[in-house]
Amino acid sequence: MAATHLSSLSSSSTQNPHHLLSSHPSSHSKSFLKPFFSPNLTNPNSFQSLSFTQHKTPFNLSCNNFKKSSSSDFTSESYSDDYLTNSVVQIDLDDDDKLREECGVVGIYGDPEASRLCYLALHALQHRGQEGAGIVTVHENILKSITGVGLVSEVFNESKLNQLPGDSAIGHVRYSTAGSSMLKNVQPFVAGYRFGSVGVAHNGNLVNYRFLRAMLEENGSIFNTSSDTEVVLHLIAISKARPFLLRIVNACEQLEGAYSMVFITEDKLVAVRDPYGFRPLVMGRRSNGAYVFASETCALDLIEATYEREVNPGEVIVVDKEGIQTLCLMPHPEQKACIFEHIYFSQPNSVVFGRSVYKSRREFGEILATEAPVDCDVVIAVPDSGVVAALGYAAKAGVPFEQGLIRSHYVGRTFIEPSQRIRDFGVKLKLAPVKAVLEGKRVVVVDDSIVRGTTSSKIVRLLKEAGAKEVHMRIASPPMVASCYYGVDTPSSEELISNRLSVEEIRKFIGSDSLAFLPFDSLKKLLKEDSSGFCYACFTGKYPVPPPDKEVKVKRVGDFVDDGLNGSLKSIEEGWVQVPREQEAGKVN
Ligand code: SF4
Repeated sequence: MAATHLSSLSSSSTQNPHHLLSSHPSSHSKSFLKPFFSPNLTNPNSFQSLSFTQHKTPFNLSCNNFKKSSSSDFTSESYSDDYLTNSVVQIDLDDDDKLREECGVVGIYGDPEASRLCYLALHALQHRGQEGAGIVTVHENILKSITGVGLVSEVFNESKLNQLPGDSAIGHVRYSTAGSSMLKNVQPFVAGYRFGSVGVAHNGNLVNYRFLRAMLEENGSIFNTSSDTEVVLHLIAISKARPFLLRIVNACEQLEGAYSMVFITEDKLVAVRDPYGFRPLVMGRRSNGAYVFASETCALDLIEATYEREVNPGEVIVVDKEGIQTLCLMPHPEQKACIFEHIYFSQPNSVVFGRSVYKSRREFGEILATEAPVDCDVVIAVPDSGVVAALGYAAKAGVPFEQGLIRSHYVGRTFIEPSQRIRDFGVKLKLAPVKAVLEGKRVVVVDDSIVRGTTSSKIVRLLKEAGAKEVHMRIASPPMVASCYYGVDTPSSEELISNRLSVEEIRKFIGSDSLAFLPFDSLKKLLKEDSSGFCYACFTGKYPVPPPDKEVKVKRVGDFVDDGLNGSLKSIEEGWVQVPREQEAGKVN
């Protein structure tokens, strides 16, 4: 392989992904790294040293019990979700009729308050996952983990954060299906093996997880979780590449699908984004020089980190005491960023894929007002995700925006179910109509999407019962006809109402007086020259990375493994182009 086929680039530059990739040949990257990858899948011994720290039952840990230099030492604390199954019934309040982002990730390097910053950043990302949270820090060469079921504020308190010293940390918030098996799948995962320990937090889904897992199990791997992330750990563990960074590259080369990941080892923080860039991942700096990685810029804002740039698709960024270095290892023909980050998942105050989410949503509403106008007296939103699009619709239509639905922020994810008969009160518990806004009015109600259609029908009924004369539903996304395999929990295609019914049939089903979706062509027109860089598979069924078996939805799983082989990049042979590290170590406190 010619030396010029690989490049190592300074992260301080703000080069766009296409520029980064232009240095690569058009051939697929797998050939670049082939010389390094030689997983000994036929040698069972290569798996023997892999161990996981996830515990099925809670246990106490001792923070004073640190042992230095033991290659696989780390401590872990997990909190049981048993309470979910005792006397309290988890009810989704119709949230299963919404798409769910499956995770948010954070990485901090070089700040003595790393765990607290991580905690705060996870708060900012709480909308990306409410079922579990965890933080792993490194202190005196030991990885320490605390994970638990629930919101960030429920999992962590002052005492627990005090148990997570160290100046580097990674964190994770997770959405998952409910159930007793959930705790062991809460990330970050930590694993130890022959040369050290590693923690990983992953946002996205791997479409070839089942294939990789079968291959690994065939060769002796034992899995602890049902998460796709765990295969990454095993792939890293069996890689023969040196140094550690190349093990990550080896592993990622075998992954197909969506992954924005942060890894932590005894002395490094590594951020990786898949070649298509499905899920977001950004990098920022704090004033003391600490590096911050996060799924969204809203997390940077909260902890006063300045946004520097996205982690580019196919890029690996490594931070250690020497500074920062980046490698663009996995070229791809075109970015396929998830458009739903702009429609629903991300916070409006975030900048995602280089675009303001607020601005996108406002423009979606303006397009709806232009292309699907209707005589009305008031525009309201289904809070919270429909609000910005509704503002855009109202402004464009010249009709007042009012708060016609109030969302209760105090309804927990679980409550005692009084009886099956009144379970249908779910929507009312979360959304309360304002009669003063609605009575006798022709109402336009703006929502972000329709999944199964059940929530929309309840909302229409709610508005009419509150006195609305007419209800016109406007949806700030195109009809969703296909399931997502890249990290968003969607029902199967058969369950999506737009896959089964026409727009008019859906209108009749939900009972509205009119219904309009954001036209797909208008969405692409709005994105202009960026439009080809987005994934629209849930609107088109055209998957950038085809799932091998579309009938099997992949759920997130476990984590990865570390390798303590932290050699210098200068030792890399086989055609890697060496670019000097930035001398930024001095900036990191
Ligand atoms: S299929 Fe839809 S939700 Fe999934 S990554 Fe593509 S645009 Fe996003």
